[in-house]
Amino acid sequence: MSGYSPDFKDVPKTIAARFKPVGKGPFHDVPDAQWYDWKWQLQHRITDIAELGRYINLSPEEIAGHEAGRDVFKIGITPYYVALMDRDDPLCPVRMQATPHPQEMISHPSDMEDPLAEDRDMPVKGLTHRYPDRVLFYMTQDCAMFCRHCTRKRKVANPHTAADDAQVQGCIDYIRRTPSVRDVIVSGGDALAVSDDRLEKILAQIRDIPHVEIIRIATRTPCTMPMRITDELVAMLKKYHPIFLNTHFNHPKEATAEAFAALRKIAGAGIPIGNQMVLLKGINDDAETVMKLNHAMLMMQVKPYYIYQCDPTFGNYHFRTPVSKGIEIIKSLRGFTSGLAVPYYVIDAPGGGGKVPILPEYVKSWENGVIVVRNFRGDEYTYIEPNQD
Ligand code: SF4
Repeated sequence: MSGYSPDFKDVPKTIAARFKPVGKGPFHDVPDAQWYDWKWQLQHRITDIAELGRYINLSPEEIAGHEAGRDVFKIGITPYYVALMDRDDPLCPVRMQATPHPQEMISHPSDMEDPLAEDRDMPVKGLTHRYPDRVLFYMTQDCAMFCRHCTRKRKVANPHTAADDAQVQGCIDYIRRTPSVRDVIVSGGDALAVSDDRLEKILAQIRDIPHVEIIRIATRTPCTMPMRITDELVAMLKKYHPIFLNTHFNHPKEATAEAFAALRKIAGAGIPIGNQMVLLKGINDDAETVMKLNHAMLMMQVKPYYIYQCDPTFGNYHFRTPVSKGIEIIKSLRGFTSGLAVPYYVIDAPGGGGKVPILPEYVKSWENGVIVVRNFRGDEYTYIEPNQD
């Protein structure tokens, strides 16, 4: 039996009542010992449209999307995430992130294969070093689920791009000989798509490098396969503190009792968690949905960290929203809810420019030390700067 259980016994009733268990849905015959075992979930990922059609009523678009794009970007969905889907509604926000659509095959002039130029800024294979003091370390290109909006579609779900031992060693050697690196983001794909042993071997080597201060784990598994967060995993991670974890929830429907149990385990190990939502048309491009998601994240001990403008990756044009939509959402959060629930809205500048925060205009004028600002209600106030003579 894996060390995961959807255990809520220490959660105050008033909070627990907000989070509903997904249960097993169409997989009701699967015994608990298998359902709550992440390896079973990975091994039983749904990768075939006919199989998916046994669990949900597929729409003509989903079938056509699979026919058109089967050789470009595969299907890969955990049974848990399938159980979270609305069986009949193809516009279910969970389903839209996981099932194919013919629009994925329509290219647009703004599309890029590697929009963040991650492959360009690679001093060694498998590691991006763009910002002065931090690196992105790809340890696998596998994920529990293959998200249709993924920026790294060019690599994810392709087993031939997984990091082998020589590649991993090359990355660790680079970090060791580069003293400016104080922050290592272990990513993928999904950093938790590999075994605890493999992950630990890498973390132990990174933690042994004197100039590395913090390690961040990038994983969507608390959302798509929460049973990955076992007692054994968090006991291992704790040995390599300070560890932070970034995850990726896009819709309040994903904030389930199972996800809560996973996140509580991580937070209980002293690992701060941030959520990186992607702004997606038809899924979360309205302020009410984002507000609900962010409130749920906070109750699950997760800080909403970023809202990403959807990157211009081939195959996700239909998910992209105008930037004005992101600004409107931030405007509807700031001041109207706790600052903790207001993430940064960023464009990851295409071509490798890095994350650029996009803010609503709160400064009306600024002249001769007199700043006129607008608050969240649009009321104007004046601030006089100190005299610097
Ligand atoms: S989990 Fe992340 S890297 Fe993997 S497919 Fe989804 S968005 Fe892409």
